[in-house]
Amino acid sequence: MNIQMIGVIGAGQMGNGIAHVMALAGYDVLMVDINQEALDKALIIIEKNLVRQVSRGKITEIEMKETLSRINTTLQLPEIGQTDLVIEAATERESVKQAIFEDLVPHLKPDTILTSNTSSISITRLGSRTDRPEKFMGFHFMNPVPVMQLVELIRGIATEDVTFKACKSVVDKLGKTAASAEDFPAFIVNRILMPMINEAVYTLYEGVGSVKSIDQSMRLGANHPMGPLELADFIGLDTCLAIMNVLHDGLADTKYRPCPLLTKYVEAGWLGRKTERGFYDYRSNPPVPTR
Ligand code: NAD
Repeated sequence: MNIQMIGVIGAGQMGNGIAHVMALAGYDVLMVDINQEALDKALIIIEKNLVRQVSRGKITEIEMKETLSRINTTLQLPEIGQTDLVIEAATERESVKQAIFEDLVPHLKPDTILTSNTSSISITRLGSRTDRPEKFMGFHFMNPVPVMQLVELIRGIATEDVTFKACKSVVDKLGKTAASAEDFPAFIVNRILMPMINEAVYTLYEGVGSVKSIDQSMRLGANHPMGPLELADFIGLDTCLAIMNVLHDGLADTKYRPCPLLTKYVEAGWLGRKTERGFYDYRSNPPVPTR
């Protein structure tokens, strides 16, 4: 299977990172969003991150220019149909993802592999709503994509081996490490990470500690590079809540009950870094805890 052109759906924090690493590895990238501003912002972020890589001596200026020249953007979802491998990285909501696949499928080449960067949603269910469950799988990058080494690859029940192998060879070309995960809610990394973040929010909710003391305790007491609440802000509180809901619904166990305080922050539109406010207020430097 010859993969040359990658389609990226969604130009948010994950989409821009995926476009970055794919183009740097030599793939042509076409990125789509429903929002021109998101596309413009993504290109600015990619350039900023590439400039940082040049200044650290990780890539040359020529590589940076070539990488940027390989990334194109569009507002027209059907144009993604001409690519060889599609990675959907839109908002973590099943209805959004299903609507995207429904609109895209009629425009796909017969051989195109369709994947989702979903953090938690059933790959089997997403794939079953397309015309190609055997060419459908989970392609789950970690945030920030240019820095993090792992990619989780998730087969749905119908995913064919040849599809898995093609995706694995893309991960190899990126110089990243693939971990194979079974298709159960939130896969491996988020099955373990999200309940910890949710528990940190409960610890705050019950007044056991403040934002500052909870993060400091886990950084200095468990040697985590980031505190769990900082990390939640970094991931996006809407995404954290969506993943907890998938765990709660999918595994029907009360231990996955999302903390009401997490729901409250999302209701307020305080989604973390991407909206400049979450457990910290990023409008001041250094960020100030909001509780
Ligand atoms: P984000 O909110 O930063 O970006 C989502 C983007 O999708 C936005 O630009 C939005 O305009 C776009 N979008 C929404 N509907 C669309 C549509 N119909 N067509 C095209 N674009 C559309 O979210 P994110 O953090 O980049 O997360 C994206 C996906 O990646 C989610 O499935 C999430 O679970 C997954 N993921 C997130 C992280 C993380 O740490 N944030 C890590 C791994 C995977």
